[in-house]
Amino acid sequence: MKLTRAQRLLLWCAATDATFKPSRVGGTPALVGKCIHCGRKLAIDLEGKPISDASLEHILPRNHGGTDALANLAIACTSCNAQKGYRHDCQKLEDAKLQAVIETLQARRAKRMRAPPQSLELPSLPDQNERDCGH
Ligand SMILES: [Zn+2]
Repeated sequence: MKLTRAQRLLLWCAATDATFKPSRVGGTPALVGKCIHCGRKLAIDLEGKPISDASLEHILPRNHGGTDALANLAIACTSCNAQKGYRHDCQKLEDAKLQAVIETLQARRAKRMRAPPQSLELPSLPDQNERDCGH
């Protein structure tokens, strides 16, 4: 079974986030942890599909050159993610509020960072240039 790039990144992101613990949601094996913004409980299954409304957050936004490096990725509620995009990511990079948001999230992500648990079977980590639809 082939996972999409987004699924693999979400899975890796949860695997390296210390708030995400192996668990079960409605009988489905899952990783359950916390939104990087609001701390609300989020779950993804072991194929990297969100069970709740988890989404991939780019701490340094892509429109400002943020990459898919794991240190730049976090898991957030779709609504938190959208709010950051709407309120902050569209600002200039020099914007003080955007800078503060990025710094806070980077520090939070660094604190949560861990090696993936050995019990998890992770797919290979997509490389930076790989695209789902690339031919
Ligand atoms: Zn949230």
